[in-house]
Amino acid sequence: MHDAQPAVYDPQAVERKWQARWEERGTHRVDLAGARRPFYNLMMFPYPSAEGLHVGNLYAFTGVDIFGRYQRLRGGDVFQPLGFDAFGIHSENYALKVGVHPAELIPRNIENFRTQLRRAGLMVDWRYAVSTTDPAYYKWTQWIFLQLHKAGLAVKKRAAVNWCPACKTVLANEQVVGGYCERHPDTLVEQRTLDQWFFTITRYAAKLLDNLATADWSHSTRTLQTNWIGRSEGADLVFETPGGHRITVFTTRPDTLFGATYVVLAPEHPLVDALTTTECRADVNAYRRKAAAMDVVTRRVGEKEKTGVFTGAYARNPATGGSIPIWIADYVLMEYGTGAIMAVPGHDERDFEFATKFVLPIVRVIAAPGQDAAAAMTRAEPEIPDGRLVNSPGYDGMPWAEAKRAITTALEAKQLGTAVVNYRLHDWCISRQRYWGPPIPIIYCDVCGTVPVPERDLPVVLPQLEDFRPDDTGISPLARNEAWYRVPCPACGRAARRETDVSDTFLDSAWYFLRYPSANRSDVPFDAALTKRWLPVTSYIGGNEHAVLHLMYARFITMALKDLGHLDFEEPFPRFRAHGLIVKDGAKMSKSRGNVVIPDRYIEQWGADTFRMYLMFLGPYQEGGDFRDAGIVGIRRFLEKVWNLVQAHGRTGVPEGGGDQSLAGLMHRTIKRVTVDTEALAYNTAIAAMMEYVNALQKGEPSAALLEPLVVMLAPYAPHFAEECWERFGHTTSVMDARWPAFDSALAVEEQVEFVVQVNGKVRARVVMPRGTAEAAAVAAAQAEPGVARFTEGKVPRKVIFVPDRLVNIVV
Ligand SMILES: [Zn+2]
Ligand SMILES: [Zn+2]
Repeated sequence: MHDAQPAVYDPQAVERKWQARWEERGTHRVDLAGARRPFYNLMMFPYPSAEGLHVGNLYAFTGVDIFGRYQRLRGGDVFQPLGFDAFGIHSENYALKVGVHPAELIPRNIENFRTQLRRAGLMVDWRYAVSTTDPAYYKWTQWIFLQLHKAGLAVKKRAAVNWCPACKTVLANEQVVGGYCERHPDTLVEQRTLDQWFFTITRYAAKLLDNLATADWSHSTRTLQTNWIGRSEGADLVFETPGGHRITVFTTRPDTLFGATYVVLAPEHPLVDALTTTECRADVNAYRRKAAAMDVVTRRVGEKEKTGVFTGAYARNPATGGSIPIWIADYVLMEYGTGAIMAVPGHDERDFEFATKFVLPIVRVIAAPGQDAAAAMTRAEPEIPDGRLVNSPGYDGMPWAEAKRAITTALEAKQLGTAVVNYRLHDWCISRQRYWGPPIPIIYCDVCGTVPVPERDLPVVLPQLEDFRPDDTGISPLARNEAWYRVPCPACGRAARRETDVSDTFLDSAWYFLRYPSANRSDVPFDAALTKRWLPVTSYIGGNEHAVLHLMYARFITMALKDLGHLDFEEPFPRFRAHGLIVKDGAKMSKSRGNVVIPDRYIEQWGADTFRMYLMFLGPYQEGGDFRDAGIVGIRRFLEKVWNLVQAHGRTGVPEGGGDQSLAGLMHRTIKRVTVDTEALAYNTAIAAMMEYVNALQKGEPSAALLEPLVVMLAPYAPHFAEECWERFGHTTSVMDARWPAFDSALAVEEQVEFVVQVNGKVRARVVMPRGTAEAAAVAAAQAEPGVARFTEGKVPRKVIFVPDRLVNIVV
């Protein structure tokens, strides 16, 4: 039987055999209800494009799959579902381009994706697949909208929103990148004032931020999200006018108040009319007309020459009591803050430019350490030094942070100020004037007003629409379907109209992980018992491009559902790791460069196992790597070496006397390294450790006892290959039902080497560390030496020179 196996490694035959057998045996299935050690291993579900699986998808999935298989070999009941994020503009635009209806195109793409994903050898339990375009799924997306609506978290309001002229729809702030559309990097996003549906995510700003502090997340992801939420502490300050008006401004630096030498209002500020004097009215009106005609993006993108006009009015600086002029200028926007600012030209670039142009006073109120008030006044450029106050009677000499609190408190006592916390985060605009999405379940009645669709009437099915092209009116194409659009009011029965906007695709993906375990329940969005057992998600791995989109929206939806009593946890992803990106020959992959790696071609030529391992060998998984065709053959040779060793020695018992003792020591060290590295997603170094081991085995006297643990460790990386080898050892069950090998700590002791530690080139210590210690660990150990710490403490290393196993030179 086994002798009938081909002697040569034929990946295509091996992979076909095991993919069929996995399906037959249900190897990838997990008993959700009976699982004793649930491990929910989540990967970001793909958008099923017509081009098929992108190598970037496969890179991400392979890394997650390795982690999931590893957890299973460690004894976990691993649930690894996958679905399809198939609604949204991307699918719709592609359908328009090729002239096929998305309802026809998407199922085809999904089938294609499934085939490719199976071919890649992923351990997916397909019984729990979901597709966001399935009415059985989006019924519950609409249900979530209704729950939030009931709670006042979904509101329709008129607001300045981002409009992409290319997408012909509004966008969420998170979909605007530097003023441009995320999908159209050459299209400047415009501002339009429209009635739109918003989720009031801002109510959760503090919680979204505070919980990040304890989240086990990649540092980079946490930082991106923290900055996006953008908490700033400051104060609303009041500048009174002689006529009794109160102008409120928000500032993060109340400590600079003594340097506020004028006030600027947005041209649209409601007080402008009342404040403007007769002499200035003509100029002010002319300026306001010009500003109104300008699109807001131009106003916001700040490099242009500063313009503005004086209103003729004055306000009282609440600190100095002095009269300062009130101007209007288009760089102040009504949408942000209060639509008014206090200008501190001594310490703000923009105000400085404005004051210089219009010859307004410039006063410096913070001096750098060692500077006096006079010296501070002679500085040419505005800056905010980390210093003490000057020119601020009553506060002179006080450190700025202390002065910030003291001045705010003093103004609070006079009812001229309030300490406030501000967030950069805005409400999430979820309505889209497009076709390919779940209709928002709302009905408008002339008598009853806005009426939610009753839950029993869900789903509101997206009608088949032949002409679904978006236009520039701001009205969704669904409005063109009269039969669907006209509907009786659920409250009074009179003729009424459906909401014609659909919801943002990021709402579909904000809860899919809640649905997977309950994918086969049609009566509830998520089964209570299964949700309790499987959620929150044990491990989530995905791309950092979703740090402020999907990851933030999913957290918000989970928090809201928890507060509404539907869930008993508020953080869906306690552990998140961001994977890196791969480039091709040093350049970003793109269709226009013609350097996109098509995974199918490589899998056909080399097999899925070699391709998986090669992707993981490109660099640290959390950093990414550079795909070069030339490297792939090295992985193939490695697998062939293992194959040949197993063919030759797979049936040998343990040799007399326990076999080669040096190989046994190396085996335990290898198990230790592969265990630690796989656990830490350092797949490239885990593979390197296995390669070193195999090279040593080739030179020594290998036996089945030395090979079996290797094959189990290879199972997450090259699953079909490992199954075939496992069978060769005489096993009749899947290698995935084996146990991860344990190492004997005594035997796994690393060989020690002495590192020379230098600071600025001078030898300061010698430290003994295991051979192969990585740079970061070696530097940390070096800096912990008292003889080194003396020279590096409190200093930021400028550079580290690292010679493996020999030298650490820290340059400070
Ligand atoms: Zn666009
Ligand atoms: Zn009605």
